[in-house]
Amino acid sequence: MERMNLHLHTKYSDGIFSPAELIEAAIHYGINVVGFADHYLTTKTTAIESYAEKPYLEEITKLKKRYANVVRIYAGVEIDCSHPEFRPERYNYEFLNNLDFILLEYVNDGAHDGVSLQDTLPMLEKISVPVGLAHNDIGRNFEGIGHDVLAEFLSTHGIFIELDTSRRYRRFEMPYYRIAADFFRDYGQTVKLSIGSDVHAEIDEVANIGDAVNFIKKYNLANSLIF
Ligand SMILES: [Zn+2]
Repeated sequence: MERMNLHLHTKYSDGIFSPAELIEAAIHYGINVVGFADHYLTTKTTAIESYAEKPYLEEITKLKKRYANVVRIYAGVEIDCSHPEFRPERYNYEFLNNLDFILLEYVNDGAHDGVSLQDTLPMLEKISVPVGLAHNDIGRNFEGIGHDVLAEFLSTHGIFIELDTSRRYRRFEMPYYRIAADFFRDYGQTVKLSIGSDVHAEIDEVANIGDAVNFIKKYNLANSLIF
């Protein structure tokens, strides 16, 4: 199956590495599908502002050409869906629709004052590229919603779920996706998935996808990966 890491931050937001440095690391660690997901228009951390949209896309487009046949490269951003950062009226949809994918963080996340999944729908109607829930603790954030209802909603709206392996996204010393293992066991074939480790400042984190790969193998979900 693919060895994917679709959650890399670069110097364009709060990461410390350039896109090329991250690609070289990915190749070194045998990752063959790479996705950049720099923060977009949030005040919580350094983020891609309007002046950086074009350079960001241009740099990634160049790298796609340079590394064609070596590694598949995707351009994305991460959108903060917590109050008051979530402001879809400010987003440049022409830019967003030139990306390959978009991650949404804090959706339905009470601990971070996240907006509801329903509240993201008007924005999603304007977006034509794949959109996914980043490091979402779905076992907690969607508690009380039936797994069947959640899976139906996500697949109807084409929303994928990121299996995030970062140490930051754990409870009971388990990654969020393992806490929600029943959901993936029962509905992992119906929803789309990605793998990411939310790399910022540790280069060897590019390689940190093993647990998600094992999880996907265990539940036979390789066909659910978005790319
Ligand atoms: Zn991130």
